[in-house]
Amino acid sequence: MARTSTLTLALVGAVALGGCGVHTTEGMAKALVPDEQENQLGQQVKQELDKQGTKYIQDPEIVNYVQGVAKKIFVSANKDRPGVNWKVYVIDDPKQVNAFATPGGNLFVFSGLLMAADNEAQLAGVWGHESGHVVARHSARQMVDAMGLETVLGMALGQNPNQLAELAGTLAAKGALLSYSRQDETEADEYGARYAAAAGYDPHGIIQFFEKLKSMEGNVPSFAQYLSDHPLTADRITHLQQYIAEKHLTGTVLAADRLQPVKQKLIAQAQNAGLKPAAAR
Ligand SMILES: [Zn+2]
Repeated sequence: MARTSTLTLALVGAVALGGCGVHTTEGMAKALVPDEQENQLGQQVKQELDKQGTKYIQDPEIVNYVQGVAKKIFVSANKDRPGVNWKVYVIDDPKQVNAFATPGGNLFVFSGLLMAADNEAQLAGVWGHESGHVVARHSARQMVDAMGLETVLGMALGQNPNQLAELAGTLAAKGALLSYSRQDETEADEYGARYAAAAGYDPHGIIQFFEKLKSMEGNVPSFAQYLSDHPLTADRITHLQQYIAEKHLTGTVLAADRLQPVKQKLIAQAQNAGLKPAAAR
């Protein structure tokens, strides 16, 4: 009964907005997947990832550091989309150079990405970009496009366990569900650059990180994954550079940031476990 009324309300919302001629992507997605269902969806995906045995880094020094960088980004993200219950997780997988966001504001980064980043501004750029996807409601809309509204709302209520399991399996293995559109990527880039600069970081960090991955993707295949989930085109980098210049976004790369000791610790842990990190040099 509760489920029926939720579905009906959401559908009415979508039709009403469509009828009023409101076709902004954000407006449509907001009508399609209400915040409460987005949060439930995020929780369901996290529970399913846990159930499937996803390993997380527990080391407080590493987790606190990664969450601390993200928190600085959330200060701005919260102004654009208040009420998101942000959570940050570090997945213990040195071979994956990737990060993703699920509906509801759950952000995940693979330990392989932390080892691949050169400095904190690059990590801040990744968090800015991923939180931009959440602020603009890209992942919820993407899921609705791919699976249909009823399936997605059912997943939020835990009523489509098979599809949820499949989704979480794909996320854990590939670090992404589907590739975002170019428009979504550009939007997330703009949010990301603004958030990183507002937190005091050089907004070019994400560009440097993308370029580093690109230069290494030939000899380290897993480096290509983040780029294929967030397709990188020459005009995307050009656009981002222009956007940063036009908005006069500035920031710094800390001379001695706290990423280095975290990286060294992660690399040592991976080597102790007999794993060869993707970014080991
Ligand atoms: Zn992206």
